[in-house]
This record gives sequence, structure tokens and C-alpha cells, in this order.
Amino acid sequence: MWFNKATTPYQSNSRIRRSAISNQLAFIKKMDADEIDDFDLTLDVDKKDEVKQQQQFVSTLTPEEQSLKKYYDEKFPWDLLYEWLSFNHFGDSSDGQSEYFGRREFSVSYTRPDKQIVLRNRSSPDVNNIKLLINDLLPATTVVGASGEVKRKTIGGSGRLVYDKLDIGPVYNSEPIKKDSVTSYSPVERELVFDIDINDYDEVRACCKGQTLCSKCWGLLALAADYLTYQINECFGFEQFLYVFSGGRGLHIWISDKSAVTLTYEMRKSLVSFLRMDHSSDYLHPQIEFFLKYFEEHMIEDQLLLSDEKQLKQFLEQFPESYGKKKINIRESVERVLEENSEVSSDVEKWMAIKASLATLKENIDLQEIIFRVVMYYTHPRIDEPVTIGFNHLLKSPFCIHPRTKKLCVPIELSEIHKFDPNNVPTLNSILNINQDNNNNNNNSNQMDIDDESNNKKKKKSKNQDNNTNDFQRYRKQFSLYN
Ligand SMILES: [Zn+2]
Repeated sequence: MWFNKATTPYQSNSRIRRSAISNQLAFIKKMDADEIDDFDLTLDVDKKDEVKQQQQFVSTLTPEEQSLKKYYDEKFPWDLLYEWLSFNHFGDSSDGQSEYFGRREFSVSYTRPDKQIVLRNRSSPDVNNIKLLINDLLPATTVVGASGEVKRKTIGGSGRLVYDKLDIGPVYNSEPIKKDSVTSYSPVERELVFDIDINDYDEVRACCKGQTLCSKCWGLLALAADYLTYQINECFGFEQFLYVFSGGRGLHIWISDKSAVTLTYEMRKSLVSFLRMDHSSDYLHPQIEFFLKYFEEHMIEDQLLLSDEKQLKQFLEQFPESYGKKKINIRESVERVLEENSEVSSDVEKWMAIKASLATLKENIDLQEIIFRVVMYYTHPRIDEPVTIGFNHLLKSPFCIHPRTKKLCVPIELSEIHKFDPNNVPTLNSILNINQDNNNNNNNSNQMDIDDESNNKKKKKSKNQDNNTNDFQRYRKQFSLYN
């Protein structure tokens, strides 16, 4: 346990709920022009008809929107999110905790190919209001007609009723929702965050491209997590790391030590430049062994460095054609070794032969430096630096459903990170036990066959449901360890 846990002010009653709805109305009125285009919605929500309107609201949702709403209503770990984000609260009282939480920026958004709508600077001391913000946003995209009917409101050509993304921003000096009523409004605390996206490794990947991520290229992100944890812990002493698969193409690392969240912009900038390894310089990084191990055990074979034509060309380009005072053509030497070993089936053995051959030149070359350049080119962590340096960048909330893949954004233990398979995480449908295969009717079979088949399907379905529930509970438990 990191701190004296205060009681969660986690209440649910109609008064709070009504007040939440009025807060939502306030949100809508405060929407910034650059965030919402052509938003001309006028509302007249009668609070007495709230339940009826909610029912009508749900009936207008698409099946996927209904699933999202159900997920955020029933499954999303709001209690744990509250505890995690108010970890650094001031004072020991629950009031102090909720006051701190109330100064945290949240943002909801939805993404369509033609448009993205983002609502920033949303906040509340009560986590239930944040739940309503993403979910029960009745007024935002619906119109209540004169006779009480709820119609789909079209924004910018695409109708939408439930936001599909919840992002977390910094903690401000005052509540973000009240920013227009205070004289100074600025971020004061922010977790030290790292965002590493796999598409930034495209030049070295053979297995996937762009937004695609598989268990092979995931290893590069896991390696980045290993390195950053080691280096940051060693050099800055931070200990509270949370690793999260974004559900899409990336890995997020959140560092929540008090001394980390209070780092200034300048300090974050220095920290990033310290972590940036200039692999083209002569500076030999002491962590070479760390990357070399991954390179030799995984990268060479996984990314076909010596067996794919394009990859091989790129590999050779990492060796200089004119090295040192004697202008040694190292690339040519490497090509010769590969020719001599063309019958060797394993790429790793070919690599070992290259190293052995270059070692014979060691009187004239700095072998370690050459190996370092090659290995770092392939493996150095591609950090999205502005996200780490800036205070204002948003990062997707753990347990959010990724809008594109519908995968759960899950926390991962560092000790398990290399075994993690990004294609084997719960999805919106699997969490809710929605069976995609509804084609179960077979009227031509005899009754006994139907019974057997039906029983088997029931058993299988029940087993899948148990697995899905267990998976979700496991990730939930993992997240609870951070409180
Ligand atoms: Zn891949």
C-alpha cells in the first residue's frame, strides 16, 4: 500500500445523479468553439423525466454504443481509477482526496474518419460524475423533442451518442471545469508519462507495419519498458511504475512518485535528453549488453534481419564503408562473411560469424562501437518525447476501450511484459460475454443431435464466459495493486 487509503466518496443517489446531469448541461454550455463545430443544440431536460429519457436514450443507441455504455456502467473500475489518480492527494481526509481528484483534467472524445470531437477540461471531485461524462451524456448528442421524444442529433455529419475514449490530463491549481472563473489556471502536477508507439519502429520491423502490432514486435516495446524502468529507477530513484497496453499500437508508462509528478517542464526536458541515446555518437552506452541480448535472442530471427532482402540491405547499411584512418571497408567484410556462410541456416549463427570475423580486425577497429551502432539502430526506445515533456498531453485511461480495436487498455506487470500478447487481450464484446456467433439454429437435425449440440455449446459458452470474467478480474486485480 502506498498511502493511507481514505474512504472513497463513492456514492450513488438521485441527488448526486441530478446534480451530475446539471453539471453535464454546464459542460455543454461551456464547450469551446474550436472543440465542437456547428454545435447548436438547445436543451430543455426535465429532471422529473430523467429515467424515462434515459430509457429512450438507450433505445436510440447502436448495439456497439449500448455495449460501451454497459461496459462503462457495470465493468469499468471507477473505484480503482479514483484511488490511483488521487494517490498524491494532500491531507489524510477523504475531502482532501476528492479535492485533489477534482483538480484532475479528464477528456472525452469520439473519433470518426471525417471528424474528431474532443471535450477537454472536464473534472469533478466525485468520480461518479466522470462516469456520467463518458457515458450518460444524454444532452450532448440527443435532442428532446416537444413531446418528449429523443432523437439522434447529428454532429458534423455523423451521429453519435456515446463517447468512445476517456483520456487523463494533469492536475491543475483549480478545478478544470471552473477554469473560466479563476484568474490563473495552470497545471501543477502530472505523472511522468511515456508513450511508445510501434509504428515508430516501422523502419526496423518486418513482421508488421503501421498500426499493426503482434507478439514479435511487442517485444521491442517490452524492451523499452525494461530499459526505461532500469534507467529511471537507477538514476532518479522513482519506484511507482504502471505499464499499460494502450489497446492499439502502443505502450504507456505512468510514474506516480510524488517527486516525479512534481517535475517541472525543464526537468522533464532534461530527463528525456538524458534518456535519449544518440546511437550515432561515439559514446558507448553502458547498457549495450541489455539491448544486445534482446537483439541476438529475438530481433535477428523475428525481424528477418539477414533473410529478408530489404532487411538485409538495411542491415548492411549499418556498417561503415570507410572506417578510421585506414579507411577500412567493414561493410564489404560483413558481406563476405555472409557469402561464406550462405549455407548456414540460422541467422543468429551468421551474426555470430560476423562478430567473430570483425574481432580479427580489432587492432584497427573499435568492435564494441560498431556492434553498439548496429544494435542501437534496431532496438533503441522510440519515445514520443513531447508527451513526456509536456504537461498538457492527454493519455488514454487504463481500462478504456480502444476506439479502433475495441480492445481493453490493460495494465501489465513488468515481470510478465515479455510474455504479454497484445492480440490476446479482452475486447468489448468478450468482457460483456457477447457471443458473436449467434447462428445456432439447425432445424434439420434430429432432436438428440440438437440437444447434444446445444449442451456442448452451452458448456463451451459457459467456459468462455468464465475465462472472460477471469481475464478481466485478473487485470482489475493487477490495477488494484497500484493503490
Ligand atoms: Zn509485428
